This record gives sequence, structure tokens and C-alpha cells, in this order.
Amino acid sequence: MTAPVQPAPAAPATAGTLTVDDLTVHYGGVCAVRSVSFTVGPGESVGIIGSNGAGKTSTLKALMGLVSRHCAGITFGDDDLTNVRARDMVRHGIGYVPEGRHVFPGLSVEKNLLLGAYARRWNAGTRQTLQEMYDLFPVLGDMRARPAGDLSGGQQQMLAIGRALMSRPRLLLLDEPSMGLSPKLIETVLDVLIRLRAAGMSLLLVEQNAKLTFGVTSHCLVMENGNVAITGTSQELSSDSRVRQIYLGL
Ligand code: ATP
Repeated sequence: MTAPVQPAPAAPATAGTLTVDDLTVHYGGVCAVRSVSFTVGPGESVGIIGSNGAGKTSTLKALMGLVSRHCAGITFGDDDLTNVRARDMVRHGIGYVPEGRHVFPGLSVEKNLLLGAYARRWNAGTRQTLQEMYDLFPVLGDMRARPAGDLSGGQQQMLAIGRALMSRPRLLLLDEPSMGLSPKLIETVLDVLIRLRAAGMSLLLVEQNAKLTFGVTSHCLVMENGNVAITGTSQELSSDSRVRQIYLGL
């Protein structure tokens, strides 16, 4: 049985559309992201696909304030996030699942989850969210006292998603959640994302796995060399001959 995941009650009632306007990222002389703009509407799932080095991770990191950037503006509903620090993004209803999971291997599964609730007070609401995570990911409940380092790659991915959900975000950013997972576990990740979308959460999914992305998103951007090369509905892109050849291997 799975419990519905509620959007963040602490986020402003008007929080809705994420708007990223003219985002550019440089690492020294390397331009990793060039004038990228997009929106994610309330309850919408948007994907960013592209091959290695296309600029997907840099786009998410820049959006989160984790790398320096030039940007005309980033807003989420009525909130101007252009100068908001990474650690404060969670207070605006944005959750982030980084590439490579970054769980704390020496801490228990439960402590890892609780770290995701750092911006919330520990009370009945937090306890309820923790229980929701164990309902959504029963394996985490079974292993709650074990060190996170004992978990398999797929279980650690569930933990990283669960940790981000502990803040009850309205918008969840995910960076390559399928990385290194078996096809069966990729199906599990897809299933979880579909359930979050059904619960009304907005998703921004960065992936090399185009098939997974098309299965959960309504719109996608295809990035190549730091640029947005193609945009469209996921249905349109999944039947685009170039996308099929390069990103679906068909
Ligand atoms: P992957 O799927 O491999 O993670 P990506 O699409 O996420 O690729 P980025 O990681 O954003 O791409 O990298 C975009 C470009 O920026 C690449 O050329 C990469 O080598 C470069 N880059 C990324 N991080 C740094 C960094 N810290 N310093 C210098 N260059 C970097």
C-alpha cells in the first residue's frame, strides 16, 4: 500500500509555475549552459534529456544556486528565487535529488530521511511524513535502523528521493535517478515518479534515459552542447526521428 504524497503545506498558496529565464553557466572558459529558458507549470512534469556533457546537471545545479550563473530571473509562483541560496530553496517548496544520490552512508536510513526535514519542526506532521515515506518505500521502513551504506544502489535512490520528499516540496528536481540502476529498478523509479505526479507534485526530471523520461513527463527539452536543441511534448519527441535515433537507439 502506498500513501499519497501531499504537496508542501508551508509553501505559499500561490506557488505554482517555475520560470527560468535566460540561464547561462560558465566554468572558467567553458560555457556549459547557454541562454536556457523554460517553465514548469503547477502539477506539470517536464524532462531535460541529452547525452553526457550536454549541460543538464549544470542547469539543475544553477537553478538550485549550487554553481554560479548568469540569469535574467528565476521565479516560482510569486517568489523571486534569482538570489536565493541553495539551502533556502527548500523553504520555497523546492526539493532536490542530486545526481549520485549523496546519502550519508554511516547514518541510519531514518536519520538520512530526517535530514531532509531540516527546515521543518519535529512534530506530528513530520512524524506523519516519515510514515508516508515508509508507506511509499516499504524497504526503507524495513531497513530504517540500518546504515544507509548497507543499501543497494536502487534502495539508496529511493532514500535520496524520500529525503527530498521529507520537506513536502511542491516541485521536485531529480538529476538522473535511473543512473546505474537495473531495468527492473528503473521501472520502480518510474512507478514512484508517476505516483508523485498523480499526487499533484510538479517534477523537473534530468535524464539520459529518454524512455523513462517520456514515460513520466508531458514536455521535454533536449539539450546539446549547452543549448536547448529541441523542445516539444513528450509524445511528439518520442516519435521524432532524430530523437528516436540518438536518444532511444531506434
Ligand atoms: P552528464 O549526463 O554526464 O552528467 P550533463 O548533461 O549533466 O552530463 P554537465 O555535467 O552539466 O552535463 O556538464 C556540462 C559541461 O560542463 C561539460 O562539458 C562538463 O565537462 C563541464 N563541467 C561540468 N562541471 C564542471 C566543473 N565543475 N568544472 C569545469 N567544467 C565542468
